[in-house]
Amino acid sequence: MILLISDLHLEEQRPDITRAFLHFLETRAPQAKALYILGDFFEVWIGDDAMSPFQHSIAKALRKLSDGGVAVYLMHGNRDFLLGRAFCREAGCTLLADPSVQRFNGEPVLLMHGDSLCTRDESYMRLRRWLRNPLSLFILRNLPLSTRQKLASKLRRQSREQTRMKASDIVDVTPEEVPPSLRRHGVTRLIHGHTHRPAVHELEVDGRPAQRIVLGDWDQKGWALQVDEHGYQLSPFPLV
Ligand code: MN
Repeated sequence: MILLISDLHLEEQRPDITRAFLHFLETRAPQAKALYILGDFFEVWIGDDAMSPFQHSIAKALRKLSDGGVAVYLMHGNRDFLLGRAFCREAGCTLLADPSVQRFNGEPVLLMHGDSLCTRDESYMRLRRWLRNPLSLFILRNLPLSTRQKLASKLRRQSREQTRMKASDIVDVTPEEVPPSLRRHGVTRLIHGHTHRPAVHELEVDGRPAQRIVLGDWDQKGWALQVDEHGYQLSPFPLV
C-alpha cells in the first residue's frame, strides 16, 4: 500500500495540523510501503540552514518513519521549493523532481505539485520561472537570513492578495495542459496537489480513459490518497 499527501502547509501556528500529521505518521503511514509528499509540506521554507526547532521536530518524526522501513519521497511545492538535501538527510527522505514518474501497481503514474499546470495565471508563471532558475536559486540560497525572511513574507503577502483578486479559474489547472503532460510522459494517470480542490477527474486522452487525481490540502480536515490492490482511493479524515 502506498500513501500520497500534499499541501499540509505545516507551520507552528497550526498545532492542529501538526498534531494530525504526527498522528498520521504514528498510525496510518507505518502500514505503507511508501509515503509521497507532493509539495507545500511546509507553509514556508527559507533554507535548510534556517530550520526552526519546529521544523527539526518534523524532520525527526519523518526519520522515525523512514527508519522503520517506509520509503519517504518529497516533492517541492511553491511554498517550500528551497527545501534541500540537508533536510532530506535529516528526515531520511528522497527529494523527487517535479514532474516525476513512479510505478504503482506496475503502472507508470505522473506526479506533480500542480502549480506548473496553472498556466492561466501568467504573473505567477513568470515569477515561478524566475524563482526556479538555477542562478536565482543560487542567489536566493546565499542571501543573508534576514533578507530571505523579508522576501518570504513579502511573497506570501503578495500571493494572498493576488489570489483574492484573481478569478477563481485562473488559480486552477488549465484543462488543456493535462493531455500533453500525460502524452509526454506516456501515462494515463496524473496525481497532483496545489489547487486545494480535491477531486478525481475522469478524462479521455487519445481515445483512452485517463484520470487526474487532485490531492486535498490539510485545513478543516486531512486528505490522503491510498493506492493498493483495490486501486486508488482519495479520502478525507478529521484532524484529531
Ligand atoms: Mn502549492
